[in-house]
Amino acid sequence: MTRRFTEKQLIIASHNSGKVQEIAYLLSSFGVEVASAAEFGLSEPEETGTTFAENAILKARTAALACGLPTLADDSGLSVDALDGRPGIHSARWAGKERNFVAAMERLELEMKETANRRARFVCALALAWPWKKKKWPKTVPETEVFEGMVEGTLVFPPRGDKGFGYDPVFVPDGYDITFGEMVAEKKHTISHRADAFTKLVAGCFKN
Ligand code: IMP
Repeated sequence: MTRRFTEKQLIIASHNSGKVQEIAYLLSSFGVEVASAAEFGLSEPEETGTTFAENAILKARTAALACGLPTLADDSGLSVDALDGRPGIHSARWAGKERNFVAAMERLELEMKETANRRARFVCALALAWPWKKKKWPKTVPETEVFEGMVEGTLVFPPRGDKGFGYDPVFVPDGYDITFGEMVAEKKHTISHRADAFTKLVAGCFKN
C-alpha cells in the first residue's frame, strides 16, 4: 500500500527547467502547487547512487529534509543497448558542466560507429519523499515511494529537431518516425518515460 499525497504543495528537486516544466504539466490536473528546488535555493546533492532509483531517492530525501515539504525527484537518462546501458545514470555528465548536448550526441554517435544496433530507451525513476512529522520523531529517513517508467526507441544520427532537451534530437520512440526533438511537447509528454513513471505515481499516490 503506497502513501497518498494529500498536501497542497510539492517541491520538484531539479534544477533542470525542462524537467520541471514537464512535471508541472503532468501534475496540472491535480491542483498541486509545484515549485522547483532552485526557487528554494536548494543545491543538488552529489548523485552517488548506482541506479536511477537510488539517485532519485537521494535527491528527493535530501530536498525534503532541507525544505520540510514533500518533494518529488526524477532521475533519468538514456540507456543504449550497444553500449551496455551507457550513458545511463551518467547521461547528464556526458554533456559536461556546460550542458553541451551537441557534444554528448556526437560522443554517442562516435561510440556507436562500430555497431548497427541502434536500440535504446529513456528511463525515468520518480521518488516522492515526505519529511517526517515532529511527533513521529525519531525517524531516520523520510518516507519515500518510487516509480519507474521507460520508453523504447531507436537512435538516429545526425540529430533532428530543436524541441525538447538533452538527447531528444537523436531518439525516435517506437511507433513514430520523428525524434522527440521534432515532436510537439504535448505529444512527448504523453508517451515519454517520465509520463510512464507518472502514470504509476498518480495511480499509487494521487488517485483515490
Ligand atoms: P539527471 O538530472 O541526472 O536525471 O539527468 C538526466 C539526463 O538524462 C538529462 O540531462 C538528459 O541528458 C537525459 N534525459 C533525461 N530525460 C530526457 C528526455 O526526456 N529527453 C532527453 N534527454 C533526457
